[in-house]
Amino acid sequence: MSKIGIIGGGPAGVMCAIFAAQNPDNKVFILDKGIILNTLLPTGGGRCNLAYGEFDFKELAKFYPRGQKFLYSVLSRFSTENTLEFFENIGVKTYTQEDFRIFPVSDCAKDVKQALLKQIEKKNVKKLFEKVISVKKTDNSFEIVTDKTSHLFDKLVIATGGRGEGQKLAKSLGHNIIELRPALSALVTKEKDFVSVSGLSLKNISAQVFFENKKIKELKGDFLFTHTGVSGPLIYKISSYCAYCDFSEKNLLKMVFNLTGKDFNDFDKEFLEKLKNNAQKETVNVVAEYVPKNLAIAVLKKEKIDTTIKAGQLSKIHRTAISKALTMFTLNATKTVAGEEIVTAGGVELKEINPKTMESKLVEGLYFCGEVMDIDGLTGGFNLQNCWSTGYIAGNSLLTQ
Ligand SMILES: Cc1cc2nc3c(=O)[nH]c(=O)nc-3n(C[C@H](O)[C@H](O)[C@H](O)COP(=O)(O)OP(=O)(O)OC[C@H]3O[C@@H](n4cnc5c(N)ncnc54)[C@H](O)[C@@H]3O)c2cc1C
Repeated sequence: MSKIGIIGGGPAGVMCAIFAAQNPDNKVFILDKGIILNTLLPTGGGRCNLAYGEFDFKELAKFYPRGQKFLYSVLSRFSTENTLEFFENIGVKTYTQEDFRIFPVSDCAKDVKQALLKQIEKKNVKKLFEKVISVKKTDNSFEIVTDKTSHLFDKLVIATGGRGEGQKLAKSLGHNIIELRPALSALVTKEKDFVSVSGLSLKNISAQVFFENKKIKELKGDFLFTHTGVSGPLIYKISSYCAYCDFSEKNLLKMVFNLTGKDFNDFDKEFLEKLKNNAQKETVNVVAEYVPKNLAIAVLKKEKIDTTIKAGQLSKIHRTAISKALTMFTLNATKTVAGEEIVTAGGVELKEINPKTMESKLVEGLYFCGEVMDIDGLTGGFNLQNCWSTGYIAGNSLLTQ
């Protein structure tokens, strides 16, 4: 008989519990300070984007800015196919969207939560609604102190997510923690010229990102203007790849968007022709053939160009300024939008964890799964995939010990 304590009843902890409890000799406990699996409810806007339709594990691992190599081993054992099979077996049918994101057929995160809860009930996993305060390893057990009482476990799993509490527990047991940073978040920009277009979204835009005069990344996707800056899938990607750039008011993260899909010279030539052929039109209406009209107005205002000026009267300097503004539309981020990040970069250092078992290499009997580790993916179902895969591996290794 082995007594297993799992701290954290999020998707990773619950997945681990389901597999660990398959051995009737294991007595499995989930300790959670809140409501089990409530963190699943807002995922995918309430629809739960539970996986991504990439079936080659090496390709899948490329969607994780941190943890890619570690995940080769993990995903080679439990990947998209296994996730879909697992959910099918517990009664959650799934479908794949055009953009490869996978959702439950019901489009309802609550249904995924219920199906998982049913599994832990069925397997007799005990639920303890307690907040874990501290952990101590004695010779052959773990002593857990909670806000209500204390417990002894033979094996311990830390699956507390990205918010920092589990990382502190891991640190107290000797683990190194890679600094936690927000990832997948909206960005606040220095420029306030586009507040008037907040809510406007642009599709399939390419962006180059620079920090301290170095190009960090070239990315593509959709983004939208907000009242403080920018957000949306492209911005989430930028925030993720730049999670460890220390940008601020004084040290800006420069984002250069191409709103036209053409380079400056080609666009400028085309724009000149268009202006000539529409000499009697207001310039803003010619620009509005390339970007939505309210953005065209905002761009002209920023460049201090009269929005009513006729296309035929536009000076070369102003034409060049518009061509530049559309092909090299530049915004500078000063910070992420605090507290609204979707995941946390950083966590328990991966070289201290065995990817074949998820067991600590430093403390025997201690396991990790989910976002508590230094693993984070882009948007698209990758972060939950990390939970299913690492939860499965941790649970499966506990099953056989
Ligand atoms: C709004 C939003 C939408 C998202 N959408 C998606 C999506 O569609 N697809 C996707 O792949 N990912 C998505 N994510 C990310 C995904 O939800 C997380 O990566 C995932 O929930 C991490 O799971 P976890 O089990 O590691 O941790 P968590 O889900 O954070 O669960 C940790 C659990 O541990 C408990 N806990 C923490 N500390 C203690 C303590 N000291 N004692 C006891 N219990 C404790 C918490 O109460 C919690 O229940 C989204 C995230 C957010 C915020």
